[in-house]
Amino acid sequence: MRRLENILRDKTRIVVKVGTNLLTDKLTGLNPDRINSIAGGVSHLQSLGYQVALVSSGAIGAGVAARRLKERPKSMREKQATAAIGQPILMEAYQSAFRGHSRIVGQILLTKDDFVNRGRYLNARNTLSVLLDDNVVPIINENDTVAVEEIKLGDNDNLSALVANMIGADLLIILSDIDGFYSDDPSRNRGAELIPVVETITPRIERQAKKSGGELGTGGMVTKIQAAKRCTSAGIAMIIANGGNPRVLQEVVSGEFRGTLFLPAAHRLNVRKKWIGFVSHPKGSVRIDEGAKTALTRHRKSLLPSGVLEVIGVFKAKDTISVLDVTGNEIARGVSGFSSGELARIGGRRTGDVETIIGRRTHGEVIHKDNLVLLHE
Ligand code: GLU
Repeated sequence: MRRLENILRDKTRIVVKVGTNLLTDKLTGLNPDRINSIAGGVSHLQSLGYQVALVSSGAIGAGVAARRLKERPKSMREKQATAAIGQPILMEAYQSAFRGHSRIVGQILLTKDDFVNRGRYLNARNTLSVLLDDNVVPIINENDTVAVEEIKLGDNDNLSALVANMIGADLLIILSDIDGFYSDDPSRNRGAELIPVVETITPRIERQAKKSGGELGTGGMVTKIQAAKRCTSAGIAMIIANGGNPRVLQEVVSGEFRGTLFLPAAHRLNVRKKWIGFVSHPKGSVRIDEGAKTALTRHRKSLLPSGVLEVIGVFKAKDTISVLDVTGNEIARGVSGFSSGELARIGGRRTGDVETIIGRRTHGEVIHKDNLVLLHE
């Protein structure tokens, strides 16, 4: 696949994500053959010159088997306790598998806050960079034991896309227990076809994802397409392939593989814009009129107070907010120059009046164009 060759030519960073279904069995726990084949594939990529981070699920799955539970626990407390037991079992298995390839591993457990809070984000990024530059394999999971519902990312597909953004990867490979993204649900329609390349993620593809693969792991296809959106719009390619094939990673880098490649958008956003658009979480939103929408999307202008119709939520100046069009569709994200209280007073007013109304000096823009990311480019 020529286009994949271009993406991989620079030999930079790759994130590999492995799902629970591939790694664990309810009764027997972790599948050592799978862990070994993943370790083999990752060390192969490293020996070709790539830096590789691994995002691995399976903590709860391994804990279920260790506790001899009949099924995955439902309550948050039980899940957390089970993850506390399973996470070291998972790490031990990886450590011994990678030792067989003379590689060392490091454990990184992240929560949503590590992405939302810019200070913590930069700290995590620095740690990962040191490990990657040293050819250590960072093994990343959500910190399930502390992440209660409100602060949970919830699925490792989205986590792996955030990690890919964080470390400036060129490619995210999601290893699942199906071959890739299909034209229809392959478990119900035998005529469903594997789609080898997705150029852009259209609303049709998103609808299709809702229909298929719903039974898989925590996420299923919906979260995989969310991850693909996060990646491709930030200039990162993503692949879904079957991790049941022990040589899958070797085949991906050789360019001959069975799976789906999501192509990155042509332009790359700078690191700050990536953080604004795809990593930070909006604290509130503004609804804007048609004129302002055209100014933003066609003429790439800043958002001015005059175009703001409504302010939703409570936020401070410098928080990330969503920009909605008249019908409520999110069209952009950006860093607000004003708090929600200030915006409620200056929405619809001329820029020249703003300082008099709020009684402080300002640059006048609600969101300056340098701090604005359009979401549907
Ligand atoms: N963090 C969870 C675990 O290790 C998995 C989340 C997911 O499967 O997406 O069990």
